[in-house]
Amino acid sequence: MKLYNSLTRTKEDFVPREEGKVKMYTCGPTVYHFAHVGNLRTYIMEDVLEKSLRYAGYDVTRCMNITDVGHLTSDADTGEDKMLKGAKREHKTVMEIAKYYTDAFFADCRKLNIRIPDLTVPATSQIPEYIRLVSALLEKGYAYIAGGNVYFDTSRLSQYYVFNRHDAEDLETGVREGVEEDENKRNKIDFVLWFTKSKFEDQELKWESPWGLGYPGWHIECSAISMKYLGEYLDIHCGGIDNAFPHHTNEIAQSEAYLGHPWCHTWFHVLHLNTAGGKMSKSKGEFLTLSLLEEKGYDPMVYRFFCLQSHYRKALVFSYEGLDNAKAAYEKLVARISQLPADGGVREEALLPFRASFREALENDLNTSLAVTALYDVLKADLTGEEKRTLIGEFDEVLSLSLLERAGEALKKEKEEIGDEEILRLVAERAEARRAKNFARADEIRDLLKNMNVTVEDTPDGPKIIRK
Ligand code: AMP
Ligand code: ZN
Repeated sequence: MKLYNSLTRTKEDFVPREEGKVKMYTCGPTVYHFAHVGNLRTYIMEDVLEKSLRYAGYDVTRCMNITDVGHLTSDADTGEDKMLKGAKREHKTVMEIAKYYTDAFFADCRKLNIRIPDLTVPATSQIPEYIRLVSALLEKGYAYIAGGNVYFDTSRLSQYYVFNRHDAEDLETGVREGVEEDENKRNKIDFVLWFTKSKFEDQELKWESPWGLGYPGWHIECSAISMKYLGEYLDIHCGGIDNAFPHHTNEIAQSEAYLGHPWCHTWFHVLHLNTAGGKMSKSKGEFLTLSLLEEKGYDPMVYRFFCLQSHYRKALVFSYEGLDNAKAAYEKLVARISQLPADGGVREEALLPFRASFREALENDLNTSLAVTALYDVLKADLTGEEKRTLIGEFDEVLSLSLLERAGEALKKEKEEIGDEEILRLVAERAEARRAKNFARADEIRDLLKNMNVTVEDTPDGPKIIRK
């Protein structure tokens, strides 16, 4: 499998450290609000990655954190805690907010056929791990205490910027966004590992630590959770592109300082979903959720299909026009599958070239649109209905578009509609027979309907149809 690695900025052959086994970590949601469809694009593409690895025969163990503490309104650890902000907005406790939006996130995942990772770990459940890690970093001289907080000392690293040539300009962007300079930092780019002093004294969740009552910085959770559950070496770490800096850069700094050796081999970043007006972001207030799309009549599968039609390393612009095109194409695809003949027989060797081109598409840096094309090729091919259904079912283990399920539903609906027409015709004929006092025929029809699990009750408003 070839994958683009953000660390080397090249497409590489993906080779896990342990043969046949992949250890995969995903930065999870900050559960202070609903996920927007941009966040969900990232989770959909990560899901396809995980399933492609499984399809290629790897045994994948995937872990994801749930950020319920530590993520401040700026990624550069300043501002208010996002969770606290959410709690204030809704007049609830931080834990109530966390529970509500974690459940909402999992509900979105289920609707989008996103497999829930093997391990999902709330950040608040791992406080002793962070304390252990921060203590070790202090001992090794990679961290210092200033003004009550513990900071990571980036000057101790030979190379801090690993993904890009981030420079003073990035930091100035931070300043432009209203990030205030922290006087305690030895270097501008140092970051907080543990807070005891915050401008926001009403921080709801605090824990005892060797440095006083406080709470962890945002980045430490992913290092600690990943190392605890997946060990010292990680094969692949994913997230949206905005996570590359500072979040992933800081994760690498602290993990490798702690371990004393390279930590994660491959970094997989999904480019953003933007609106025509620019970035989609929760902090701007208005944002698109999956529920909103559902209210507007879009099946979540349509949104998944929309995402799969473009490559994860290209920014994608959301528009209703684009979504409508995806909807039309998806519905047509489902209709075609529902009409596949029931002719039988599966010639295993006839399936091989189709499987090969599907795999080839995915194994070329997850070319999902080409994988979808491979699916259309199956529909067009000279194969039996059963062969086509077999391949579609198999491809859909990765694409997860509920294709056979929706096709089955479409077929059932079609049959029911025909059935409805027949029932209505019989009910009308029975009423007519009764009016004509032809009770023998009326009873005959009643029995016919009974066989169709339908009973008819005669009410003053006319006959009422009751289905069993
Ligand atoms: P958050 O809940 O803000 O921590 O973000 C959850 C995930 O969504 C992270 O992996 C982010 O990098 C990613 N993300 C944030 N905004 C977007 C966007 N507009 N498009 C795609 N992914 C995004
Ligand atoms: Zn993370």
